[in-house]
Amino acid sequence: MATRVLNYINNTWTDVGVTESAPVMNPARGEKIADVAMSDANAVGIAVDAAHAAFAEWKETPVGDRVQYLFRLKVLLEENIEEIARAITDECGKTRAESIGELRRGIENVETACGMPTLIQGYSNEDIASGIDEHMFRQPLGVVTAITPFNFPGMIPLWFLPYAVATGNCFILKPSEKVPITTAKLFELIERAGFPAGVLGLVNGGKDAVDALIDHPKVRAVSFVGSTPVARYIYERATKNGKRAQCQGGAKNPVIVMPDADMETTTGIMADSAFGCAGQRCLAASVAITVGEARKPFTEKMADVAAARIVGYGFDDGVQMGPVISSASRERIHGIIGAAESDGAAVVVDGRNRTTPGYEDGYWVFPTVLDRVDPRSTLASTEVFGPVLSLMHASDIDDAIRIVNERSYGNMACIFTESGAVARKFRHEADAGNVGINIGVAAPMAYFPFSGWNESFFGDLHAQGRHGVEFYTQTKVVVERWPKTWSRKF
Ligand code: NAD
Repeated sequence: MATRVLNYINNTWTDVGVTESAPVMNPARGEKIADVAMSDANAVGIAVDAAHAAFAEWKETPVGDRVQYLFRLKVLLEENIEEIARAITDECGKTRAESIGELRRGIENVETACGMPTLIQGYSNEDIASGIDEHMFRQPLGVVTAITPFNFPGMIPLWFLPYAVATGNCFILKPSEKVPITTAKLFELIERAGFPAGVLGLVNGGKDAVDALIDHPKVRAVSFVGSTPVARYIYERATKNGKRAQCQGGAKNPVIVMPDADMETTTGIMADSAFGCAGQRCLAASVAITVGEARKPFTEKMADVAAARIVGYGFDDGVQMGPVISSASRERIHGIIGAAESDGAAVVVDGRNRTTPGYEDGYWVFPTVLDRVDPRSTLASTEVFGPVLSLMHASDIDDAIRIVNERSYGNMACIFTESGAVARKFRHEADAGNVGINIGVAAPMAYFPFSGWNESFFGDLHAQGRHGVEFYTQTKVVVERWPKTWSRKF
C-alpha cells in the first residue's frame, strides 16, 4: 500500500482539514510511491493558528536556547543523511551523490543559523547627546512561511527554516507536492529534535494551500522558490496583502568560454553544470557562449562528454544523471528541442527518445547539445529545466558580455578563462547576482546571500546568511535618556 504523506501541525501528524490527495511518483520507474495530502484553506488556518499560539512563548525563549534545537537537528540530519538521500533519489530522481550533496548544503544552513546569538545582534551608541543612548534590537515577526520547489527538496527548505526559527519566528513550510516525502522525513527529525509545539509546521498541497498562506492575515512574511511566473504572482499578492516577500524565480544561465580556457577542465565542469541533476537546477549552465577560436574545440569536446554521460536510476552504480521529474516535463523538453530545430538550431547530441534498460517507464531525457542557437530565438530566452545545453558564438569578450546581459533572468553568469583581466571585466559587467569564474555552479555558501537578479528574484533581501536574519526580523530603535544628575540621588 502506498504511503500517505500527512501534515505536521502542533507536533502532530494529521490530515485534519484535508479533503484531497495527489500521487507522488518515482520518476526513474514511472510508478506511484505515495499519496500526499492536498490542504485547503481550512488546514492552513489550523496550522497558522497553532504557529501563532506558539509565537508568544517562542519569541521570549532566549536565542541561545532556541539554537540548541538546531544543534540537535544538525546531529540528526548527519545521522540520517543516507535515509533522506534515498527519499530524494526516489521521488526527485537524483543520483545518490547529488542527493547527499544537496543535503550537505542544507545542513550548512542549519550550522550557520546556530550562530544566531551573534548574527542577531543589533548595535548601540552611547551618548548620542549628553546622557542619551541609542540602541537597535532585532525582534522576530511572528508567523512566517516558505513555499518551495521540487528540485531540491532536502536543501531549499533549509535556506529558510533555520534562520526563521533561530530569530524567534514560528515557521510553516509548504513543500512541492511532487516531492513531499523528503520533507516529511525532515520533519520526523524536527519532531525528534523536540521543538515546542507549533514552532514548526508542515502543510502539504498546491495552489489552494499557497493562496491561503499568502492571504492569511496572521502570516507576516513569505519566502518562495520556484518558477518566475509563480514567483512574480506570489510576490505581488503577498506584498499587496502587506507581507514581506522574497521570491526566487527561474533562470537561463549563460557561461562564456574564452579561447585560453583549458578545454578538458572546462567541458568537464560544464557537463556537471548543464547535465547534473538532469539540468533541473536553477544554477545549471544553460547557454555556452564561445569566444573566437574557442568554438571548435569546445563544441567537439562538449559533444563527447555529453554523449558519454551515464544516465539511469540514481542508486545504480556509476550513474551520473537521473530522469526529469515527470512525463509532462519530458514532453515539454522534447517540444522545446523540436521548436529550436525548426528555428535553425543544429542538434549535435540528441537526448530525445532514449531509455534506460530496466527502467523503460522512467521519464528520460538524455544530455542534449544544440549548436547555432540564435540569441534572439525563443529557446535563447526560455528556461528549459532539463539536460539541454545551447551553444552560441561571439566574436570577442564585449560581444559575449552583451549576449549575457541581454537575458531577462539574472540568476548566474560564469566565465572560463586563464586571463585575470578578462575575468575581472566580466565579474564587473555581468548582469547577474551569482557570478562564477572557472566555476560551473556558482552556488553561494550558506553565509552568503543567494543573490538572484532581474526576473530571477522579486524582493530585496535574499535567502541565507545575514540577509535571512534581516528578512526574518524587524528592527526596533530605542533612544533613552538617563541624566547623570539622577544617579546622584542614591
Ligand atoms: P513551480 O513554480 O511550479 O512550483 C514551486 C512551488 O509553487 C510549489 O510548492 C508549487 O506547489 C507552488 N505553485 C505552483 N504553481 C502555483 C500557483 N499557480 N500558485 C501558487 N503556488 C503555486 O516550480 P517547480 O517546477 O517546483 O520548480 C522549478 C522552478 O524553480 C524552476 O523555474 C527553477 O529555476 C526554479 N528554482 C529557482 C531557484 C532559485 O534559487 N532562483 C532554485 C530552485 C528552483
